[in-house]
Amino acid sequence: MRFRTALLTLLLLLWVGSAFCGTPVRGTFFGGRQYRRIDDLASLCGMQWRFSGKNCILTGRNRPVLVFVNNRREMIFGGMHLVLCDAPHWRGSGFYVSNTDWLKSIRPLLFPESAPNHRLGTIFLDCGHGGVDQGAPGKRSLEKRLTLQLGLQVAAKLRACGYQVKMTRTSDRTVPLQQRGAIANNSRSDLFVSIHINASTDRSIRGIETFCLTPAGAASSGDSKPRYLRFAGNSRDTSNLLLAYLMQRSLLARTKAEDRGLKRARFAVLKDLYMPGVLVEVGFISNAAEERNLNSPAYQEKIASGIVDGILAYRKQISKGTGR
Ligand SMILES: [Zn+2]
Repeated sequence: MRFRTALLTLLLLLWVGSAFCGTPVRGTFFGGRQYRRIDDLASLCGMQWRFSGKNCILTGRNRPVLVFVNNRREMIFGGMHLVLCDAPHWRGSGFYVSNTDWLKSIRPLLFPESAPNHRLGTIFLDCGHGGVDQGAPGKRSLEKRLTLQLGLQVAAKLRACGYQVKMTRTSDRTVPLQQRGAIANNSRSDLFVSIHINASTDRSIRGIETFCLTPAGAASSGDSKPRYLRFAGNSRDTSNLLLAYLMQRSLLARTKAEDRGLKRARFAVLKDLYMPGVLVEVGFISNAAEERNLNSPAYQEKIASGIVDGILAYRKQISKGTGR
C-alpha cells in the first residue's frame, strides 16, 4: 500500500513536472530575477488568458479565476488575495510572472493534488502570547486571552472530529516565542496552527490574514527585498501554501470578514517546523467593531469553525493527491 502511494505520488509529480519542462516557456529577467511568460504557462495549464486594464486574467474549466495586477505583488485566486514574492510585469507583447511565484505561489494552487499526502492524526495549536506577554491590547480585552479562548474551542471541535490535539499552552502562562516551534516538533504533531489577533495604529483597519513561511530566496510580504534564507520549514513550502490558502478561505467563508490576504513571513514559530504550519491573524483588536466581535461567543464559534474547516479541507485535498 505504501509502495502504491509512493508510486502514484511520483507519477503525479512527473506529470506536473513534464507539463512545465516538456514545452518551451519563454522567459526574461527583471531586476536580476527570472521571469516566465504567462501565455506559455497558461497554455501548459490548459487555461486562457487576457489582459484587461491593468489586470492579466487566467480562466480555465473547473479552475478558480486567477488575476494578476501589472506591477503589483498581488494575485487574486478564486476571489481571494495572495501577496506574491515578486511583482509581475507587462513588457513588449507579453505578461511575465517570476519563476519563484510560478513554482511557489501559482503552481501549488493550480495543481493542489501535487501536495504530498501525509499522516494527519495530531494537530498542534499554538495560542499566541500568554503570561507576561499580553500580546496586543484592545479597549476591553487582551490578545493573549482571546487566542486562548479560541484555541480551546478549536481543540474541542478537533477532538470531536477524532483528532488528537496538542497545545503550547492551555492556561495563561508564558511560553517563549523561540520555544514554540520546538515544542510542536517534540510533540510529533502532524500540522501546526498558530492563533493570533492583529493590531494597528490605524483603527479603521480590519479583516483576517493567514501567513505561511516565506520560500527561500523570496521576499516576505512586508519586505521589498528577497532574502536567501532557508529553514527546516521550507521543505514543506507546497503544503504550507495549500494549508494557508484553505485556512484563509474557510475563515472568510465562516466569518464574512474582510480578506487581507494570504501572506508570507519568516515568523519564529514557522521557520523550524517539521510539519506544515500556518499562523492566522483572525481580526484586529484595535478596531472597535472587530474587538466586539472577537469577544462575542457567536463570532468566536465562527472563527473556531473556520480553523477546523481549513484543516478538514486540507485533509481532503491531500488525500486526493494519491487517489485515496
Ligand atoms: Zn500576536
